Amino acid sequence: VSVHDLLWLFLPVAAAGGWFAAIRHQSGHKQAVWKHSQHFHKELNQLLSEKESAAELFDSFTHAERDAADTHIALGNLYRRRGEIDRAIMVHESLAKQASEKDISEAARFELARDYDSAGLLDRAETIFRQLTQSTTRQSEAYSALLQLHEREHDWAKAIETALECERETQRTLGERLAHYHCEQAQLAQSANRSLDAQEALQRALHHSPNSARARIALAAIAVEEKQFERAIRLYDEVETLQPELMPEIIRSRFDALLGAGDMQALNAFIMRIQAQRNAYSVVRTTRQIIAQIHDERVADRFFKDQILRRPSLKGLRDWAHDQLLLSKPGERDNVQVICNLLDQVMEDKPAYRCSSCGFEGNVMHWRCPSCESWDTVSTIIGVEGE
Ligand SMILES: [Zn+2]
Repeated sequence: VSVHDLLWLFLPVAAAGGWFAAIRHQSGHKQAVWKHSQHFHKELNQLLSEKESAAELFDSFTHAERDAADTHIALGNLYRRRGEIDRAIMVHESLAKQASEKDISEAARFELARDYDSAGLLDRAETIFRQLTQSTTRQSEAYSALLQLHEREHDWAKAIETALECERETQRTLGERLAHYHCEQAQLAQSANRSLDAQEALQRALHHSPNSARARIALAAIAVEEKQFERAIRLYDEVETLQPELMPEIIRSRFDALLGAGDMQALNAFIMRIQAQRNAYSVVRTTRQIIAQIHDERVADRFFKDQILRRPSLKGLRDWAHDQLLLSKPGERDNVQVICNLLDQVMEDKPAYRCSSCGFEGNVMHWRCPSCESWDTVSTIIGVEGE
């Protein structure tokens, strides 16, 4: 062990000390890092004074190098979280250069790539992540980071290529992810009026994930547009079987397909099926409109009341109160108006969707959570305050 080696082991202590002096007034887990580096300092002193044999020193030293590396990485990560990316890069880069153990250098390079990612230097981040896909210790994480990077850039072609490579190189299966990537490509193709390309992409999605509800919904929407109503109805039926919680997403288009096909018997059979079950509120509201359209308001009202008694929801109560406002006699109107206003206020800002992974809430359906970037975790909020 040379003097040079010893010197660089002291660096994190110095760094931690200086850094701690700067944030001394703050507390929390930063304190923990300080304790950690104090502990490291003590340990280093001990081994320098106590160790006798060279072998013993060497063993402890590897241990110390690991401790120092941990401190380095934790410090860099803290800098990154605090938004001091240039410092994070400096810390991680120096560790990557100096580490003699392969796994430590790979850990440092992984964090360095995350720093570049945070700084928006995506090319540099991508280059390092790509190199780490060849490593033994960081391969799977590097592939995950690369996929997230391509997703954030909406570079679906690269995402697909990387996911396929990851499946080949590791034991992971990414069928559902791949299906989403192809669905994203289909969505772009469809908005550019390239319907054939879109359908081709959706078939590829089904190839990777035969039970993909998303691919079916997109194919059904194209079928409705192209007046292939029977095909659309079949696809919507499959979506309901695969993921019944997606009913609110498809109910309007499903009625469009049934109305387009002009098969009144099938349409009535579908309405009766809805009537017999408990439904999400938007399914109730849409069905009520359709009943009013093909039968009359009286039948529609009866259906509506029956449904909101069966499965109470604030949205249903609000709409019902607004109906009563129109029907109320002049003497009662003020009272009903108060109830309407109250329910409107209660319902204002009530989110319709929530991510089961991070708790993100919003009013738009997302296949990929915009907050935690997980796929298939955002769903409709079920219950009195939701659907
Ligand atoms: Zn989330």
